[in-house]
Parts: sequence; structure tokens; C-alpha cells
Amino acid sequence: MSTEVVATSAISDAQPQSPSAPTQKSVEKVNLLGLSRPQMEKFFEEIGEKKFRAGQVMKWIHQFFVTDFAEMTNISGKLREKLEKICVIEAPEVVHKNYSKDGTRKWVFRVGDGEGSLVETVLIPADDKTGARKTLCISSQVGCALDCSFCSTGKQGFQRDLNQAEIIGQLWMANYSYMEDIPVLERERSVTNVVMMGMGEPLLNYDAVLNSMRIMLDDFAYGMSKRRVTLSTSGVVPKIDQMVKDIDVALAISLHAPNDELRNELVPINKKYPLEQLIAACQRYIAKDGNESSRKHVTIEYVMLDGVNDSLTHAQEMIKLLKNLPSKINLIPFNPFPHAPYGRSSRNKIISFQKALSDAGFVCTIRQTRGDDIDAACGQLVGQVADRTRRAEQWKKKVAAQNEIIRSQG
Ligand code: SAH
Ligand code: SF4
Repeated sequence: MSTEVVATSAISDAQPQSPSAPTQKSVEKVNLLGLSRPQMEKFFEEIGEKKFRAGQVMKWIHQFFVTDFAEMTNISGKLREKLEKICVIEAPEVVHKNYSKDGTRKWVFRVGDGEGSLVETVLIPADDKTGARKTLCISSQVGCALDCSFCSTGKQGFQRDLNQAEIIGQLWMANYSYMEDIPVLERERSVTNVVMMGMGEPLLNYDAVLNSMRIMLDDFAYGMSKRRVTLSTSGVVPKIDQMVKDIDVALAISLHAPNDELRNELVPINKKYPLEQLIAACQRYIAKDGNESSRKHVTIEYVMLDGVNDSLTHAQEMIKLLKNLPSKINLIPFNPFPHAPYGRSSRNKIISFQKALSDAGFVCTIRQTRGDDIDAACGQLVGQVADRTRRAEQWKKKVAAQNEIIRSQG
């Protein structure tokens, strides 16, 4: 089998490369950044090399944040040359980054040519004394088709799925941002937790998200604990069951309403998979055996919308709904965005809601709103950058039109 054919088959396994790759030459190459270990091993075997090279190269990429094969000192010059010819290591292009005073970091990546081809990633450090926990919120799609009524990503509509290099590239970039100026061999992995809570519905981009999470857990890559990788879903029931078979990671459910009538309105996928089915899937997810599993409870996310889902009656309904499901509840103060049809529940309302759930024996926390100075909320920075790009384009057109008038008059 020729190298050319081999490289093509490895690409098709790993999904197409980012269309944002800068040169025509690199578009034809395999992007090693996005390959899981089995995919990387297959790739090396197919180009006539030993399988163990996969682990070596993965360590250089994901633990030492190297993108240049020349720096991979335990790989022979001959193999490095071969790799340079047929592959690249390429993270998506950063078009905007913002590092807030409170430690929050935010990136906007361009993953295509169109105005809307932007995704965002947010890093939120823990508010504890050590500051050691760093949680990265990763996007899985450009936009989202599910159109939840309180979500700015949903309002942008669905553009496309991210490929594996674009998903894992977000984690790679966040880690790299702390290590850029550190000599290669002294570099460390800084991000401790990942939540698939950025733009998009991760279970609707299943294979790419699954393989990316495998890279997160892999000891040759990020070596993250399975309890520290959380997939958040609005409730794609069959895919929750599939995930239980394929990987052991933590699960968060975007519940947001305690009855079908209200949830149909807020989270429209509820019409397809109503609460009874969703709760049953969560129960199937909870591991029946072994202490080692991350599947001891599910996290229930509940966005607090003023006067919509935040009354004590709703809290009582929640208590009933979740009584047979080991769960931890996280109340999220609504993050407003332009033209949003909701307001954020008052602090007092949120605290009363929390108290009702705690009194009933649930662990219930309130999410801190961090990074407000850089607007670190789901889908919102992308909106701003897109707006700015649009305004810049409009401005350029206006200036060009004025110049044209001046020229024609002159
Ligand atoms: N699609 C997945 C993951 C991405 S959304 C899901 O829905 O779970 C990540 C979380 O942010 C979800 O719980 C979502 O409901 C919440 N969210 C979306 N828009 C929000 C807003 N404006 N304010 C607060 N939370 C929001
Ligand atoms: Fe999509 Fe999640 Fe936003 Fe709903 S909340 S529109 S599923 S990203």
C-alpha cells in the first residue's frame, strides 16, 4: 500500500482536517493533533512504522506542546523527515483571546471561512487558595441545532460539527498558553478539568467528541482523571446509553425545568425525549458496580430564569422528579445576552430555591459567575467578535463607497 493511500485512510478515520489550515499543502496532510491512540497507531502501522511511535508522538504533542517534528528528539531524523512530508500538528487559528484579572481566559477560534465560523473556549480557575484547579469549557459544534430558548448559541443556529483536531485543539491551546515561554522539556499540563459545556450539543457530534475525550483520558496525552472530564447534554437519550458503553466520564444534564410542559418550551429536544425517558437514561448511566467508576451521580444543571422556573413550586417538583436519581444540582444564574427573552432570577430567589433542595437532602450549589469582565458565558463572546467583524466590514464598505463618490465627483 502506498503512503499516499495510507495517509488518506487515516484522515478519513479521523474526520476531515480543519478547513482553516493555512496552506494548501497542509490541507492534504494528516493532522496528528486530533488522532486518538488507536487512530495514531493505525496511522504509523499504515506508513510502515512501529506502533509504539504513536505514544511517543502523542507525548510530544499533548504533554510538551510541540508542533515541530524537529523538536521530537527521540525520533530518528529519517522518520521525522517522513512525518514532515505527510503530516502536520495544527491547532485551530486563534482570532481573539482575552485573559481576565480573575484568571479566566477566553479564546475565539476560527474554524472555517464564513463569518459565523467561530467557536469559543473558556478557562475558569478555581476560586480556592491554591488556584490549582483549572476547568476548561470546550465547544463541540459551530452553533447548535437544538435552539434552547435561553441560549445564545442556539440562537446562532447550527453551522457544522467540529472535527477531532478542532475539539482537542482547544485543550491543547489552553495548556500551551501557560507553557509558551517555558523550555520544551520543562513543560507541564496545566488544565485539570474539562467540561463539554461550550458551544454545541456534544452528543450530536458523537464520534469526534468520544475520540477527543479518549485523548483527554489517555496517559500518553492529557492523562486526566475520568471524574474530571464531564460531558454536558440537553438530553439526547439514545446517545447517553451509547456513551455508557463506550467511555467512563462524568455526566451533566441540562435540565432547566422540572415538568414536561415547561421543559418543552425551554429545551425543545424534550418533545422528542421527555423527562421520564431522560431520567431513566440517567439511572442506567449510574454504575451498578465498582467504586472506580465516575458514574456515581449525575450533575443536574438548572439555569435560573426570573419568574419562569425559579419558584418554590418548581423546587418541589424537582425534589419529586429526582428522588430516585443520585444527583448533584448546580443552579446557574442566567447570563443575559442581547434580545434574550429572560432575566436573571434575583439572588434571594436563587438562595431560597437552593435551600428548598438542600433541605430535601440534595447537594445543591450555585454557579459563581466569573470572568464577567471578559463576558465569559456560553456563545456570547463569539457573538461580539462576529458583530465586530461585521461592523468592521460595514465600515470598510462605507469608506470605499465614500471614496468612490469623491472619485466620481473629482
Ligand atoms: N449543549 C450542551 C452543552 C453546551 S451548553 C447542553 O445544553 O448541556 C452548556 C450549559 O450552559 C448548559 O447547561 C446550558 O443550558 C447553559 N447555558 C446556555 N445558555 C445559557 C445562558 N444564557 N445562561 C446560563 N447558562 C446557559
Ligand atoms: Fe444547544 Fe446546549 Fe445551547 Fe441548548 S443549551 S441550544 S443544547 S448549546
